[in-house]
Amino acid sequence: MARYTGPVCKLCRREGQKLFLKGQKCYTEKCPVDRRAYPPGQHGPAQARRRKQSEYALQLREKQKVKRIYGLHEKQFRNLFKYANSIAGRTGDNLIVALESRLDNIVFRFGFSASRGQARQLVRHRHVEVNGRIVDVPSFRVSAGDEISVKPRSKDLLTVESSLGARTRPSLLDWLALDEKARVGRMVRQPARIDIPLAAQEQLIVELYSK
Ligand code: SF4
Repeated sequence: MARYTGPVCKLCRREGQKLFLKGQKCYTEKCPVDRRAYPPGQHGPAQARRRKQSEYALQLREKQKVKRIYGLHEKQFRNLFKYANSIAGRTGDNLIVALESRLDNIVFRFGFSASRGQARQLVRHRHVEVNGRIVDVPSFRVSAGDEISVKPRSKDLLTVESSLGARTRPSLLDWLALDEKARVGRMVRQPARIDIPLAAQEQLIVELYSK
């Protein structure tokens, strides 16, 4: 599966808002979204001047935005949507909760990494344990009660240390508990949509995929 390896700031500019894909650098560097508030490319400025967007365009942009925030491919995102649609409850809520329960996201939420991309790398490089066993699958679904830790030999990794010590680190969500010194965290309970600080209109994604 081809992964996007181009400049991530272009993705933010395409969505017209800051998605904070570069972690701490987003707070310390000049953000291109502030400097060039129009989509990238030759026709970017013209697109920004066009006021009315079709219903389909709005739905597509919302899906792309959420997909890019969590760093998923289209196929992974669609599979997650299918799962969200197959279980009880509102599909949109289920989708966001499923995205939030991914191991890479939880590692990021604990502050072991500065971005979800960096969290994915920590997991893939076998630095992360779930309930005492190494898990190297970023999409692993974390359940309530699971203990997530940085493996003993990696506890002093510079990546982990600097992101835990960053001034701009977001505060810990109340459904997670963390022993920062030991680099061990726990998902206290399964989050509901209301517990997840994501500004997205997931209903638009449901409408897009239900066509
Ligand atoms: Fe997005 Fe961060 Fe780049 Fe700004 S600096 S465009 S928030 S990735």
